[in-house]
Amino acid sequence: MGIEKRGSSTELHLRTTIEQSPLATAILDPDGRYLLVNAAWNALWSRGEYGFPESSSVFENERLRAMGLAPYIEECRQNAAVTTPILFCEATPETRARWLQAFIYPVRDETGTLLQVGLVFEDFTDRKALEDELAHQAFHDSLTGLPNRALFLDRLGQGLSRAKRQAERGEACGLALLYMDLDDFKRFNDSLGHAVGDQLLVGVAERVASRLRLGDTFARFGGDEFAMLLEGLEDVVQAAGVAARIKQDLSAPFQVDGHGAVVTTSIGVVVAAPGETGEYYAEELMRRADIAMYRSKRQGKNRHEIFSFGMNHSLERLGLEEDLRRAIERGELRVYYQPQIMMSTGETVGFEALVRWEHPERGLLAPSEFISLAEETGMIIALGQWVLAEACRQVRIFREQIPHEAPLRMSVNLSARQFRYPELVEEVAAILSETGTEPRDVVLEITESVMMEKGPDARGILRALKGLGLTLAMDDFGTGYSSITTLKSLPVDILKLDRSMVEGMDGDPQNRALVSATIGFAHALGLDVVVEGVETAGELDALRSMGCDIAQGYYWYRPCSTEKATELLVS
Ligand code: C2E
Ligand code: MG
Ligand code: MG
Repeated sequence: MGIEKRGSSTELHLRTTIEQSPLATAILDPDGRYLLVNAAWNALWSRGEYGFPESSSVFENERLRAMGLAPYIEECRQNAAVTTPILFCEATPETRARWLQAFIYPVRDETGTLLQVGLVFEDFTDRKALEDELAHQAFHDSLTGLPNRALFLDRLGQGLSRAKRQAERGEACGLALLYMDLDDFKRFNDSLGHAVGDQLLVGVAERVASRLRLGDTFARFGGDEFAMLLEGLEDVVQAAGVAARIKQDLSAPFQVDGHGAVVTTSIGVVVAAPGETGEYYAEELMRRADIAMYRSKRQGKNRHEIFSFGMNHSLERLGLEEDLRRAIERGELRVYYQPQIMMSTGETVGFEALVRWEHPERGLLAPSEFISLAEETGMIIALGQWVLAEACRQVRIFREQIPHEAPLRMSVNLSARQFRYPELVEEVAAILSETGTEPRDVVLEITESVMMEKGPDARGILRALKGLGLTLAMDDFGTGYSSITTLKSLPVDILKLDRSMVEGMDGDPQNRALVSATIGFAHALGLDVVVEGVETAGELDALRSMGCDIAQGYYWYRPCSTEKATELLVS
């Protein structure tokens, strides 16, 4: 081959290539003796007093031996294939624990005889730290540091399984869920400002947490909503007692910003049926606690109610459900458009379509007030199709109003149930063709947890959607079980960083580094980064310096009507 023909100068070049490789690389003979190590290898290993290589064979080196490398090299001798990356955690008295990723691969001649073994190490510590931090953030509320909804649900699932085992052993196994919502918090927040509101939330969180028993879980779900998981109870009376005590504890005024604030709360209590477990049941319990909490509100607030089945159907929720069924045909749904801004130029390069419901009596409702209902009842399928069709039609109209070839993309959200819907791909294809929309003008946003829920099938569905010519975005990154590893394995084009990550940057260098590293990794994977929820010039500057591509947020525009969106696009 060409390499041999050009003889030793090529060999020298190859050697230099390895020597200058940024990855720590060693070439070993079949017995594990060093033939060549590069500078990065020396740099990786020669920290502290552990000079390396200090011996003629990897097997004689204490640290590599401690890592248990030998069996992998042995495997190399036997098998032709490259080993999958192996993760090692190494801690020496002198160095901080570090994570290393090793690739070990055999080099054979044409008869299959092992000539050499390649050993490449990559220091994985920073990426690992980033993933751990993302995992922590994913499970905790940044304001109060309490567990968030995801962690709470996880603990609830574990608690139900534990209760089942306790019941089988004849032990006290009562498990109760308390759902609490502060009364009139919105008014407090609006009149005294968010900063004071936040202080109050932190105060409430601290006071309630300080009174809990070890093993109880107290979480914040966002806003002024909290939940509590109590285990090992004798009966429902005990759970109601805890609710009464919380009300009592909160009755002493809070000192916030020089004001004495008095807080009351409405609490819903539900007790699990012994022996019931599973994710569905956990969700059902949350829903029941929520219903009981609403009942407390309607009974005049500052009280608790224990869930009973009678409540289940008596609720106004039912009314809302019927209304929603008719909303589409009555033309009450609207799509609002939030501009997406190219950070480098300040121009609008796209929109996110966000649904609103113009309810005849309740006014304009945000998705948080009806999407989960639509999701539970299956109405989301029809609603989602309507939104997609509407957004597609609109992007075509926008296109006609702006110069040819100007960048413009319409992002549309897909919910969990839509993603699971077997005819999704066909439906999307039909909507694209019926509305005459260019697929490259459309982005579908799907959250990571929804993608992961679907397991290995997800990749197939995502591929099929991409096959239609659409662009895919992973939405709300930083809130779920975010992991760089899953991101790498799924065929998405855009990473959307959640507002909670942006919010966390303020005055916190560590969070700032986290956002910056996440953007760096996304770029390294070839993804565009869209940041959500930019509200201040400070956030904008920070994100711009981190190389973020596109952003949306109240700093520029709130989601707006078609008319306003058209106005700002053509102006
Ligand atoms: P999302 O997809 O993460 O959408 C971004 C949300 O952040 C929107 O809330 C938007 O109004 C809000 N937002 C944008 N900029 C800022 C900011 O600077 N500060 C703050 N605090 N918030 C900002 P919205 O419209 O209430 O939608 C909430 C969620 O409802 C969406 O989250 C999405 O998951 C869901 N949703 C909205 N429309 C649809 C739809 O048509 N179909 C489905 N399946 N879900 C939808
Ligand atoms: Mg979205
Ligand atoms: Mg989002």
